[in-house]
Amino acid sequence: MILDEAPACDRHESMVPMRLRTMHSDSSRPDVVDGLYECPECGHERRAPIRTGEAETAA
Ligand SMILES: [Zn+2]
Repeated sequence: MILDEAPACDRHESMVPMRLRTMHSDSSRPDVVDGLYECPECGHERRAPIRTGEAETAA
């Protein structure tokens, strides 16, 4: 189960949600997947961890 939590690109004054491009798993942290995000507006790339284990119940 992957939570859809795209970070916002910090290069814009308005909130521009980044698009998830690829995911990398880290064997030392099996409950966390490293996601590579790309901004659809400016192409800025950024990595952000995605929690996959024990998904907190969405409200
Ligand atoms: Zn951007």
